[in-house]
Amino acid sequence: MHPPERLDRFMARANAIYYAMHDPFADFTTAPEISQVFGEIIGLWAAVVWQMLGSPDPVLLVEAGPGRGTLMADARRAIGRAAPGFAAALRVHLIETSPRLRTIQAARVPDAVWHDSLDSLPDAPAILLANEFLDALPIRQFVKRGEGWTERFVADGAWLEQAADTAEVPAGRNAADGQIVELNEPARAFVSALAQRARRHPGVALLVDYGPMRSAAGDSLQALARRKPVDPLSPAGSADLTAHVDFADMAATALSAGAAVQGPVTQGAFLSALGVLQRTEALARGRSETQAAALREGTRRLTGAAAMGDLFKVLAVTSPGCEPLPGFAAAGR
Ligand code: SAH
Repeated sequence: MHPPERLDRFMARANAIYYAMHDPFADFTTAPEISQVFGEIIGLWAAVVWQMLGSPDPVLLVEAGPGRGTLMADARRAIGRAAPGFAAALRVHLIETSPRLRTIQAARVPDAVWHDSLDSLPDAPAILLANEFLDALPIRQFVKRGEGWTERFVADGAWLEQAADTAEVPAGRNAADGQIVELNEPARAFVSALAQRARRHPGVALLVDYGPMRSAAGDSLQALARRKPVDPLSPAGSADLTAHVDFADMAATALSAGAAVQGPVTQGAFLSALGVLQRTEALARGRSETQAAALREGTRRLTGAAAMGDLFKVLAVTSPGCEPLPGFAAAGR
């Protein structure tokens, strides 16, 4: 029995248990786990970005929420082959709170330095990657009730609404009566901290996640257990809880903290612009037919509009004045 818990506190507690106890990848599959091409393409992207930043040495290659370490391992392999200068200059830093996942990551990326948050990261030029990190951070949910708002709490496995302060509700979502508006405070704090770092040192952060381009009202809280949707209020830690990332809100947060942004663009458009199809075909040559078919199927899942290609978005948070980055053609502002 717990006293009523605000949704974000419930979600933080539930996910901390979940990531400490489970192999999350038994419950969901992420882009780097679908295909090695994802991490390789992002590694090559990072190598070009490093040159655009003026080839700083050393440079931090940071990943937030690295999961099994697959993206970083694939990126490092591609960088080592194609960009030896970058490979020599980069220092890998991983932001991860789960001790269990840190152990798994250490097997793939033994030379990394681990952090609980951005706060302890050295102050230096940096390229940061985050895939399906922001969606795991705890959200608050407000409900439009008549002229006012309530906020959702969790009490003994059931929803409870308590009166909310309207000033806390994100504006401009056009919620109808009974509709939900979400607020991801730790995602805002993370992007804001990235923006401040990018003002002090040359830096680019690549944020990849699922969610809308434009802010809208609606309940996006989702729970997965054993690859199936379950009730988000299932006992804390029994399922993986995520919510859509509001990319417009993330971009606005970065801009108001003095950084620049490029995108968001869809994951499909981003990967296609970076030559994912050509890279897939190059890898497929010289493989067995089964392996070649699996590579092509992976790329189809990553880029296809009905799969992850349209739902997932890519946003870059950069130092002010950054040139247009690969994959974001003419998307700067
Ligand atoms: N990027 C990986 C894993 C995504 S799962 C992939 O694409 O496969 C989310 C990851 O974020 C996990 O590694 C989880 O342990 C980590 N994580 C969740 N909340 C976190 C927090 N508050 N601080 C740091 N890491 C967190």
